[in-house]
Amino acid sequence: MSETMTTNYDVLIAGGGITGLTLACALKHTGLHIGVIDQREPQLFENDYALRVSAINRASLKVFHAVGAFEYMQQRRVSPFSEMHVWDSSGVGQIHFDSAELGLDTLGYIVENNVIQLALQDVVQQSATIDWLCPAAIESLAINEAQKQVRLTDGRILTAQLIAGADGARSMVRKAMGIELVRKSYQQQAIVCTVETELGHQQTAWQCFLPSGPLAFLPLADGSCSIVWSLDEARVVQMMALDDEAFSAQLGESFEYRLGSVKTVSPRAVFPLGHGHVDRYVQPGVALIGDAAHNIHPLAGQGANLGIMDAACLAEVVADALQAQRQWSALHSLRKYERRRKGDNRLMESTMTGFKYLFGNSGPLLTEIRNIGLNAVDHAGPVKRMFINQALGEY
Ligand SMILES: Cc1cc2nc3c(=O)[nH]c(=O)nc-3n(C[C@H](O)[C@H](O)[C@H](O)COP(=O)(O)OP(=O)(O)OC[C@H]3O[C@@H](n4cnc5c(N)ncnc54)[C@H](O)[C@@H]3O)c2cc1C
Repeated sequence: MSETMTTNYDVLIAGGGITGLTLACALKHTGLHIGVIDQREPQLFENDYALRVSAINRASLKVFHAVGAFEYMQQRRVSPFSEMHVWDSSGVGQIHFDSAELGLDTLGYIVENNVIQLALQDVVQQSATIDWLCPAAIESLAINEAQKQVRLTDGRILTAQLIAGADGARSMVRKAMGIELVRKSYQQQAIVCTVETELGHQQTAWQCFLPSGPLAFLPLADGSCSIVWSLDEARVVQMMALDDEAFSAQLGESFEYRLGSVKTVSPRAVFPLGHGHVDRYVQPGVALIGDAAHNIHPLAGQGANLGIMDAACLAEVVADALQAQRQWSALHSLRKYERRRKGDNRLMESTMTGFKYLFGNSGPLLTEIRNIGLNAVDHAGPVKRMFINQALGEY
């Protein structure tokens, strides 16, 4: 490849994770010339479930259906869940959501991140106007009034009218915009793995709030569960040092044996937990979406869902401006995206931090508030509906 080769795009999407690929798919019908850059291809799974899964809510599902990606996910594998059960281990507070009570077929799906990416990639690769530039790593970006340029490590130079930063928590696009994301650590990490339990999961997403952090069991279609166990860093080190048998015993006990004992456990992985939010999402010809703009605690499984909503919203704003023959990459157009998304994203970030605090403290007063609060919500129709709408993304 020649050092000086330059390709001009209308839109360059830095990062082909869930968020970046969703944006590409949602812009497909505009006819804009789009390039999606990622440094690595999503891995094809073998028999075992991948460790990274996302609880995809109904709002995200609508987006996946609209861009034609959901059927490709179903052809691989998706795991529907119809109930959600959340409880406080230090008290009697609990809350239960049932899709049947809400007149819905499911509350959402647990889908491996790789499956989501591969399905979105299927859609991208069928489009004559989208180039999947992968594997290709971004070396540097030049972002100013005069130009929007990306240099890849293989020497290629790409230019665009709009660069979308979908390159995750350590975004190079964000850095090139001169925007800082102050990420506050929760001093916790999440252990993730796949487990088989003695009792069936009943297509229910289970979440227990322990004083040490939340523990989720997410139902998978083969009967196993994907777990996300948030713990203080020191305790994570201890748990990771245990052999499978001792780890399974600790996990089953912490989960109060709701699904009986834990029979088998896959290799485990650890992810750091923190939160942060940029003040500005856009500048002329540049927009940040997904984890590049905001990070939240995974306790309610909403990070990817927020990114998907960002992508759908940005695509809509661009398409509307194009149709109205306005300058679609200009600041005044992009600000509409920022205005529509920032409030929801901030609300979710602060709600998650509030939950983390409320459930991470074992004082008697907070325990009582939690018990009263959870049970009151569980019995109050409209309030419960408000909570479930937020979880489903339909608020
Ligand atoms: C333990 C855990 C559980 C979670 N569970 C859920 C859940 O149930 N539901 C949910 O909605 N969310 C969940 N989340 C959050 C969710 O995983 C993230 O919010 C989501 O994956 C962010 O997607 P993204 O595309 O914005 O960023 P990323 O997934 O980080 O993707 C960024 C992409 O950019 C590429 N990239 C970065 N730099 C470069 C470069 N220099 N050159 C080329 N490519 C580059 C990367 O390769 C990557 O593919 C969870 C998070 C954790 C940690």
